[in-house]
Amino acid sequence: MKTASILGVHFHAVTMQQAVDVAMSRIRARQKGYVVTPNPEIVDLCCRDREYMGIVNRAALVLPDGIGIIYAAKILGEELCGKVAGIEFAENLVAAMAKENMRLFLLGAKPGVAEKAGENLCKKYPGLVLAGTQDGYFTDPQTAVDAINACGGADVVFVCLGAPKQERFMANYMDEIHATLFCGLGGSLDVFAGIAKRAPKIFIKLGLEWFYRLLCQPSRIGRMMKLPKFLLIVIRERLFGGKRK
Ligand code: UDP
Repeated sequence: MKTASILGVHFHAVTMQQAVDVAMSRIRARQKGYVVTPNPEIVDLCCRDREYMGIVNRAALVLPDGIGIIYAAKILGEELCGKVAGIEFAENLVAAMAKENMRLFLLGAKPGVAEKAGENLCKKYPGLVLAGTQDGYFTDPQTAVDAINACGGADVVFVCLGAPKQERFMANYMDEIHATLFCGLGGSLDVFAGIAKRAPKIFIKLGLEWFYRLLCQPSRIGRMMKLPKFLLIVIRERLFGGKRK
């Protein structure tokens, strides 16, 4: 797979369909690994923490989540095949899994949310097997490891603990867990459970989902001010730094 480097994070240049195909082939071949969906906030964390950067870059799939990453790639002259948002990847993967009666475990979010998300997904995608759920507010990660193994394992685990917790969890505990593919998906369970709403399609199409989320939740302003800062760092990298062709 071709990659595009954005401040040291190696994104895979894949379309949504290719990402799902790669994931499904890995699951069928029982090839263990994890998927990450970095947004500018995660790239920024990577720049400040080399160990975390290593975890992100060792993922089987590094998918460009969000318009900020697409802008960054354009500025740097790196080629990507468009945005592959984590939440959309998750839903497409579930649809493909359902056709093969695969087992999904949902880990993360507040108590009750993963169950509701599972219920909704099973209704929408008949054939999908919900292996189990576990909320994301455990104190000992072993609790989550045991919960997944106790239900007989799964083909896929959605790990929705927020960054960087979810990526660290996947890298540190993957080998102990009876499951093949792990996907770090942030707040996706809140969306699948119907608690958090995605922006209307027009906002998503225009690349303004971030703006919609800001309107709904003005307290996100602090997190969002990181986006212009991120783009400035990318422009500086383009003008003065690292990139030699
Ligand atoms: N979360 C969790 N355990 C924690 C911290 C967070 O399960 O210790 C969940 C939280 O409930 C939410 C998700 O992780 O469902 C993170 O959501 P956020 O909006 O930060 O992620 P984003 O989608 O913006 O990356």
